[in-house]
Amino acid sequence: MDIHLDDTARQWQQKARRFAEHELIPWEVEAELNEGRLPAETKARHRRLARKLGFNAMDVPTGYGGLGLRMVDQVAVWEQLGRVTNALCWCFPEPQRWMFDVCTADQLDRFVRPLMDGSKGTCYAITESGPGSDLESIETTATRTAKGYRINGEKWYVTSANHADFFILEARLAGGAHDGQHALYFIDMDSPGVELVANPRFSHTFDDHHPTYRFNDVSVPAANLIGGEGDGMTWSRSWFRHERLMIAARCCGAAARLIEEATEFAKGRSVGGERLADKQLMQAMLADSVTELWGARLMTFEAADAHDRGENLKALHARCSIAKLYASEAANRIADRALQIFGGRGYMRENVAERFFRELRVDRIWEGSSEIQRLIIARALIKRGLDGM
Ligand SMILES: Cc1cc2nc3c(=O)[nH]c(=O)nc-3n(C[C@H](O)[C@H](O)[C@H](O)COP(=O)(O)OP(=O)(O)OC[C@H]3O[C@@H](n4cnc5c(N)ncnc54)[C@H](O)[C@@H]3O)c2cc1C
Repeated sequence: MDIHLDDTARQWQQKARRFAEHELIPWEVEAELNEGRLPAETKARHRRLARKLGFNAMDVPTGYGGLGLRMVDQVAVWEQLGRVTNALCWCFPEPQRWMFDVCTADQLDRFVRPLMDGSKGTCYAITESGPGSDLESIETTATRTAKGYRINGEKWYVTSANHADFFILEARLAGGAHDGQHALYFIDMDSPGVELVANPRFSHTFDDHHPTYRFNDVSVPAANLIGGEGDGMTWSRSWFRHERLMIAARCCGAAARLIEEATEFAKGRSVGGERLADKQLMQAMLADSVTELWGARLMTFEAADAHDRGENLKALHARCSIAKLYASEAANRIADRALQIFGGRGYMRENVAERFFRELRVDRIWEGSSEIQRLIIARALIKRGLDGM
């Protein structure tokens, strides 16, 4: 069962597959049993290899020294990296293409290029406790000062903040010509007034945490404003499209691995004198899983191809939501079935199905929950009809 890919995409797929299989997957259980952490030299090796493979520069335009890969190539890579648990594939920072459309030369030098060479890490801070999914209503404020802005507010679930050097933060402008509109900022982690409030534990076992941060009168120079005042959501939507598509890709990779591992197990295990693989109730679970994976892959690769064909941005936005919604929901059902096929063994933390059962759950929540994806899809349908999606 394979998607038709041209030679370039196939090569990227194979590179990522080898990296996942030989370098990352062997470390999963160690990470699981050690709070997600790996020995420092192993982490350094993963970072070095990922950079050598070019993963840091996949979405960077060639004019800026990047690889300028098509979305299809990137999806082929992230699908294979999605086969790995414990977020071990998050071993490289990755600047996104839109950053090169909006950032000043100074911002590219201070923030974006260091992501490409792996010397800095970042995190994206939008979500707040009160507004939650209703991003339009965020309450963190950015008030104009003589030299820039003063930021006040609290951000929740700031993924990878424990490894980051700066935030990309979205705030609401207070006062001025764009009062109430949103703006995005680069904010150094060590800026005075940045306060780590809490570092909650989550269901998965990742070395990348999701802490809560308060911003207490944090001074941000005007040179750190990304784009113009009022542009915040525009660039965040670019971020979301990319992330949602790559979440869909990772869900496909996770689902494929789960199906393969559950099938191998079903072929090797006999209960009551018969292989699990020969029991029709087991077969039904595998068949439903394969069917759903096929649907998810087709949607995800087609959405990537639509980006590469340069289709309308609004249609692409809806398609990324469709791919993320379907792939994440399907991957969760597939993880549930795989765990069931493994029986009690599937409930052990050493088992890939147990880990994915916990880890995939958040793909239905972050970067916009499944309910929010449904709203985006329905609104696109109502505004532009099926032909406009
Ligand atoms: C592990 C983890 C990592 C995260 N990383 C980041 C990060 O790096 N940066 C960041 O900014 N955020 C991050 N998030 C936040 C994530 O994007 C939000 O959790 C998500 O958008 C939902 O917001 P909420 O948790 O406040 O839920 P709420 O908005 O309170 O929603 C609760 C429930 O109500 C539903 N709901 C909400 N609105 C509607 C509606 N209009 N119609 C129907 N149903 C609705 C939701 O789907 C959900 O089921 C992360 C979250 C988690 C759990």
